[in-house]
Parts: sequence; C-alpha cells; structure tokens
Amino acid sequence: MEAEKTLTSDEASMAKSSNFIKEIIAEDLKAGKNGGQIVTRFPPEPNGYLHIGHAKAFCLDFGLAKEFGGHCNLRLDDTNPTKEDTEYVDAIKEDIHWLGFDWGDHEYFASDYFEQLYEWAIYLIKQGKAYVDDSTAEEIKASRGTLTEPGKPSKYRDRSVEENLDLFTRMRAGEFADGSKVLRAKIDMASPNINLRDPTMYRIRRFHHHRTGDKWCIYPMYDFAHGQSDAIEGVTHSICTLEFEIHRPLYDWFIANLPVPAKPRQIEFARLNLTYTVMSKRKLLKLVQEKYVNGWDDPRMPTIAGLRRRGYTPESIRNFAERIGVAKRDSTVDVALLEHCVRDDLNTKAPRLMAVLHPLKLIIDNYPEGQEEKLTAINNPEDESAGTRELTFGRELFIERDDFMEDPPKKYFRLSIGKEVRLRYGYYVTATSVDKDAEGNITAVHCTYDPATKGGSSPDGRKVKGTIHWVNAKTALSAEVRLYDRLFTKENPEEVAEGEDFTANLNPNSLEILSDVLIEPDLAKVQVGDHVQFERQGYFTLDKDSSKEHLVFNRTVALKDSWAKIAG
Ligand code: ATP
Ligand code: MG
Repeated sequence: MEAEKTLTSDEASMAKSSNFIKEIIAEDLKAGKNGGQIVTRFPPEPNGYLHIGHAKAFCLDFGLAKEFGGHCNLRLDDTNPTKEDTEYVDAIKEDIHWLGFDWGDHEYFASDYFEQLYEWAIYLIKQGKAYVDDSTAEEIKASRGTLTEPGKPSKYRDRSVEENLDLFTRMRAGEFADGSKVLRAKIDMASPNINLRDPTMYRIRRFHHHRTGDKWCIYPMYDFAHGQSDAIEGVTHSICTLEFEIHRPLYDWFIANLPVPAKPRQIEFARLNLTYTVMSKRKLLKLVQEKYVNGWDDPRMPTIAGLRRRGYTPESIRNFAERIGVAKRDSTVDVALLEHCVRDDLNTKAPRLMAVLHPLKLIIDNYPEGQEEKLTAINNPEDESAGTRELTFGRELFIERDDFMEDPPKKYFRLSIGKEVRLRYGYYVTATSVDKDAEGNITAVHCTYDPATKGGSSPDGRKVKGTIHWVNAKTALSAEVRLYDRLFTKENPEEVAEGEDFTANLNPNSLEILSDVLIEPDLAKVQVGDHVQFERQGYFTLDKDSSKEHLVFNRTVALKDSWAKIAG
C-alpha cells in the first residue's frame, strides 16, 4: 500500500508542463484504461457560492472531458447537512452554465448514495474492517498520534463483527445520542499517514438535510463518500486540489476494499490563490453574514456571481483559467492578470461611449446661443462592424473636473487657461476664464472654439497634445456609477497581527459611489449585463439595481493595464 505520497520523477517532470493532467489522461487512454472512456466530475459542496478558484477547477473538469470526448458530472457533494442549502445548489448550477459548461443528464447528489454507502459500511464491518467506537471526539483525536508518534488503538477496536453490526444498525435507527459513537475503518494505527489511522467513516448528527429530510441521523464523512461516489458514477479521473493528496491512500483503500463498480483515479493540482483576495467559502460567508459586502454577488467578491455583476465575461474567466495553467505546487496569481483578461476580451466587444464621472461645466463663449449640430462618433475603433453614432454638440458641455487645472504643472496636456485641447469628435477649444463660487471653487470654465477644427483636426496642421471627453449639458442623462477598488489592502489578506483576522485587512475604500455622473443619451439603451467602455474611464456594465429612471453602472475595471506592462 502506498503511504505518504511522493512524486515519481516521471510525474514531477509532467507537473512542470502546462497541464500535466492532460498528459496523464492521454496516457491512460493510450494504455486502453477504462475502456477508452473518460468521465470527470465537479463536486462542489453546496455551502456557499462558487468562486474563481472553483472556476479554475471546473474549467479543467469540463474542459478535459470535452477535449477527450467524455463527459463531466455535476455532483453536489451534500454529505454535511449542517451548512448546506438549496439556494446554493441553484446558484452553483447557474454559475456553471453561465461560464458555458453543461453536464446534460449527469446531475448527481452524494446524498442519493447514502443507502449504498451504508451498505458498503456494513460490508466493511462484516469483513472485520470497520468498528463502532464509543470514544469521545477528544479521545479519538488524542489517540491518533502525531507525525512522529504512532497512534494508540481504541479499546473498542476489537469488538466482534456481530456487536459492530448491532451497534451500527442501532446508530442508524437513532438509538444513540449525537456524538456518542462513530464508525471507524480498521486500517493501521501505526501508519505514517495519519489519515489511515482508523479514520472515522460515520458520525451521528441529528440535522435536517436539504434533500433527505430527517431520514438519516448518521452521515458519512467526506473520505468515505467521495471515492465511492466517483466509483458509482463511473468517474475515471477524479481531479481535486492538493490538500487531498494526503487523503489519496485512504481514497484508494476504500476503493480497493469495497465491491465498487469502477476504480477511479484521483489526481491533484494546486488550488488557485489570488493576490488581494480570500477564497475560502467560510471566509466569504463571513463577509456576507457580517455585512462587510452586500451579498454573495457583491461586485467586489471573487465569486462567479460577483464577477458577473462586476462585468466579467465568461470568455475572460475561461481565458484566465487557461492562462494560469495547472501546477503541482501552490502559488498565488496576481489579480492583475485576471483584470488583464477581461480588458482583453472587452477591448473588441464593448462599444465606447462618453460619460463624465465628475462633471465640470464648460461654456463655449463664441458658440452661438441656441445652436446645435451633429457630430459622428465611432462606436469601436477595434471593431468596424460596430459602426458609428451621432452626438449632439452645443454651447454648454460638461467635462471631467480633473481635465481642467487653473495652475497646471509642466506636463499637463489637458485644459488650462490659454491652452488648447481637442474635444473628442468635436472641436479644438482654448480655455479663457473660470467662474467661482463664494468659497473659491470653480463652477464653470469658459472657452472659445475654433470652427475650422470640426471633427478634431485643424486645417493649418496645428497640433494639440490632449483629447478630452465630454457630454452635452442639454442632452446628457444622469446616472450613478460604482467604482470598485480591491477588497483588501494587503496582497495577502491573511497576513494579520495577533488577535486579528483577515477582516482587519479590508479596504475601507473598496466602494466609491458617484451619484451625479453625466452620460451621453445613447447609454440609456444599455441593458443590465451589457458591457460598455466609458472613454478614458474604463469598462462598465449596467447593474441590476438600475431602473429606467435611475441607471447604475459598475466599473468592471479601469483602462490602465498594469499586467500588460509587467508582461511587456
Ligand atoms: P473552499 O475552501 O473555498 O470552501 P472547498 O474545496 O471546500 O473550497 P468545494 O465545494 O468542496 O469547496 O470545492 C469543489 C471543488 O472545487 C473541489 O474539487 C475543490 O478542490 C475545487 N476548488 C475549491 N477551491 C479551489 C481553488 N481555490 N482553486 C482550485 N480549485 C478549487
Ligand atoms: Mg470542500
């Protein structure tokens, strides 16, 4: 039997390649294993919403099955009734579908196997390979030993098969109190792998299960349920994260010692960690329950629902999963790569319009009062088929407050007194003066325009360095814009002082709401979930909180791409 797992040199070299799992599967198929079939599964526990780490896992599970002509099962791993909920089951399915994957008829629940698992437990008892232990949880823990010391056998270890059968049947019948007994596999208390020191298979827990109701008061442990569920479903390659590597000998032990219909192979890969992000569902649940964020789909959350609401596309997430590859060693991926992937996707997809986030009035003094004219704007220079649209130009416009400076530094190429800039798709303008309120704040900028520069170029070849965006004061609509920053201030949010937890690293400024944004009227046509670029400001999507009267845009990501710079 295999004890502690060490990589063979063959596996080690495969782990270096971008997707060593692909190579393992290809070899298994070549060797004619499993009758040339490949079946994978994605086994989320319905105790929270899926996050980007899960996306990495199921892109792999579904992707490999598809690539090799097999299929991937969706298995809701609902063996722990205390934390599970049907809300989560529905959300999980929605998120996987949204990312473009489908399990067809292969939707399973581990709880559907409770009867079979129970029979297999009886089978092991009859083989003398499982026993009922009356020790307390503390006693069991204390007797398991350490990495350097073997465990001590329980005094109940040598109960007769008859007594074990009797006790286990009565455990199921509800004769014993919660926690008063467990069923353990009888393997090896001296094994160097602690998981093999008579692991618990069943515990007594009176909890209402979201599918089986009150039928059961004993529930199987993950280790007793997972491999057998794989076998029942004919899974050939059970791909999971590295923390299960040390459980693999136990996985294999159950498969080898039970009359299961198939022999699945467990393969582990490194879980995804992202900078400035926590990924465990327990922690994400805490953020939701303690209202640090506004629900599982808060656009700051690394959940798939949150990323979707933030404006991420399925393509960008799949592309990210592909680019990070699969490794055998844990590492942390720079969240800038994820942001790069969504920019890359939206660059060609999102039409570009103009919105002014912090409006400042611009009055063109030499533009005739009451006059209006149409200008032509290009919807997406990266996509000719996106066509053009008309903008209405007039005497009073709004520009960004920080596109004007009274006392500009040397390299400021935007608007200042006496300086000329181009208004996007419009004219060259030169600032002449400002209006101020009683406190000295600038309330409007006055300028003059050059009528010969319509469309944004000058017939005399005169160049301007800056081009700024604008909206027309008459036709602009108002909107709310939500700007997001990283949810945590530290690259590793787990890095905390003693007595603190990761919430100490929450960024107090992760959400900024701008309620007086002005947008060009065409943006009223945008539907919830659509993607647009606001020129110079980033990619945005219309939020579900929007109504006809009140448009709300989330910023998916700003335009500045730090990853492209790093990657050259
Ligand atoms: P969490 O710690 O976030 O609660 P989990 O592993 O308990 O995650 P499950 O619902 O059991 O959550 O996970 C389903 C599948 O997704 C498992 O196969 C698991 O290995 C995989 N998975 C979970 N988190 C990650 C991650 N960060 N990167 C890659 N795969 C992951
Ligand atoms: Mg889990």
